[in-house]
Amino acid sequence: MSGVPGLFLDRDGVLNHFLIDSVRTIEQFQYYEFTAEAMERLGCLGYPIVVVTNQSAIGRGWTSEEQVQSIHQQLIEDCSDWGASIASVEYCPHLPDAGCECRKPGPGMFLRAARDHGIDLDRSVMVGDSSCDIEAAQRLGMARVRVRTGRGDPPLTEGLEADAWVENLNEAAVWIEEWCR
Ligand SMILES: [Mg+2]
Ligand SMILES: [Zn+2]
Repeated sequence: MSGVPGLFLDRDGVLNHFLIDSVRTIEQFQYYEFTAEAMERLGCLGYPIVVVTNQSAIGRGWTSEEQVQSIHQQLIEDCSDWGASIASVEYCPHLPDAGCECRKPGPGMFLRAARDHGIDLDRSVMVGDSSCDIEAAQRLGMARVRVRTGRGDPPLTEGLEADAWVENLNEAAVWIEEWCR
């Protein structure tokens, strides 16, 4: 429609190391060695960058809303230092069985960001390491890039397709640079 393309990124396993028991504290929030370069590339494109992350660790009581928000504040500041302005960090605090609209593969976080930032989702792209990222984006008509970091290399759930499979966020950023042209 009349919006701008948005660059949507999953958090754990894409920007920072994935932990099987989830990232609970700011000390456990550790970037990959390529994250700064990748964000610099994405920042140069000039489109809104949105982080969309399932954080059921909050609902489980493993971490708190305050800790998650302090991680996101740090993330926003670091990306700014790398030349990438983060439009917003959207997170779902709910348990998987809560039936909320926001937990990926649900559309809630994407729709909220699209409304807040004037983004046209079917001209947007999602980078993720898990099937839920790809499923959410596929349902919304977005381009989809699957990275092999984070959850590793399990096949996508049947019926899901990615437009690109790449090693990591920096390769995803290179792919997005071409895709934007
Ligand atoms: Mg992930
Ligand atoms: Zn939710």
